Amino acid sequence: MLIEQPPKIYRLFFPGSMWRKPIKNQKTVYLTFDDGPIPEITPWVLDVLDEFDVKATFFCVGDNVRKHPDIYQMVLERGHQVGNHTFNHLQGIRTWSKRYIANSFLASEYIKSDLFRPPHGHVRIPQYFKLRKHFKIVMWDVVTRDYSKLLTPDQVLDNVKKYTRDGSVIVFHDSLKAEKNMKYALPKSLKWLKEQGYTFELV
Ligand SMILES: [Zn+2]
Repeated sequence: MLIEQPPKIYRLFFPGSMWRKPIKNQKTVYLTFDDGPIPEITPWVLDVLDEFDVKATFFCVGDNVRKHPDIYQMVLERGHQVGNHTFNHLQGIRTWSKRYIANSFLASEYIKSDLFRPPHGHVRIPQYFKLRKHFKIVMWDVVTRDYSKLLTPDQVLDNVKKYTRDGSVIVFHDSLKAEKNMKYALPKSLKWLKEQGYTFELV
């Protein structure tokens, strides 16, 4: 529960972040993907999103964009939004602030976006306030845990069904470690969300 849906107290440490944004009289969710773009997974995700006519936000690792600029372009050309997820997927709490900020700005040379999501949500308070001056920080309301080896694909799908509510920002991963769970749960989640009457907005 604490991982899939971060508690209120945790959210209070990061004022001004987007976690959940309900829109009045509308069932809305915000679909996001972290850790790409990579040729093995991201194009597959783009095809599924096209199939369901859904636009999403991709929080890209700068070094992946450097290695796979064609896949990054593909994300943009298919009408999706991109955000900064640092250059080397650094964890803020394990990284000196100066290095963390520099690494995030390095990613900005490859990712043209004013959106930022800290990897793992782990960011020190001073790092957070520094980044907030330059970016809109997008956290999440539902972590599918598609990356987890401890979860079956069905449990990942169940996380979507159990925790999604109006205005949820939902996180999947276009990464190799999430491949098995995500490839199963993403299309089924999109189908379910549409059946529930949710519409998809960009953050
Ligand atoms: Zn990440």
